[in-house]
Amino acid sequence: MRIKIYTGFIRRQLLKRKLTAMGFDLRKDSGGKYFYRLVDNKDKNELKRLDKFCRRRSLNYTFTDETTERSASYRNNFFRENRGIFGSGIYMCAYCGRLMGKGTTRVDHIIPVQKARTSKFYQRILKLRGIKNVNDVRNLAPSCDRCNSRKSAYGGLWVIRGMFGRAWIRVLIKELIMLVCGGIALYYWYGFLHGMVQGYL
Ligand SMILES: [Zn+2]
Repeated sequence: MRIKIYTGFIRRQLLKRKLTAMGFDLRKDSGGKYFYRLVDNKDKNELKRLDKFCRRRSLNYTFTDETTERSASYRNNFFRENRGIFGSGIYMCAYCGRLMGKGTTRVDHIIPVQKARTSKFYQRILKLRGIKNVNDVRNLAPSCDRCNSRKSAYGGLWVIRGMFGRAWIRVLIKELIMLVCGGIALYYWYGFLHGMVQGYL
């Protein structure tokens, strides 16, 4: 969890020593100077303590959970891990099955960022699948423009379709490979039997 505390000049001078002792650094961004600190998400007691500290002094503070934040690099990560169908650079929309090139492919969060942040149910699904971060490649699916905008931040059926869509492609590829291997095996088996029968005659 990232904690930022924004203060005016005077309060900054007054709080500086105390917050530095509590492990904060003074940083600067477009919104001005602020105190910054990282706290382990599992350290509930520390989070509670800091929340209380800020509230009691009515400080302007934000807690952001980096595991449920949309990261800018997820699109690149997705394309690095997924080279398209058979590595062809052609992607299939997980929702409607449309084929697309890399340029028009939207990378969609199967469980939307918003849901992962607010819904206990979706947090549990992510946890069950062993996904710690919403931007994990396993929570991403290729999607066409139309489906991406239709889905927006809805969960429900769209989440199931996203998961099913991905699984479906994998099953299809597996079935195709099995079919081809089976065909080759059958062909040789037929040739072998044919040879045996001819040997007897
Ligand atoms: Zn689509």
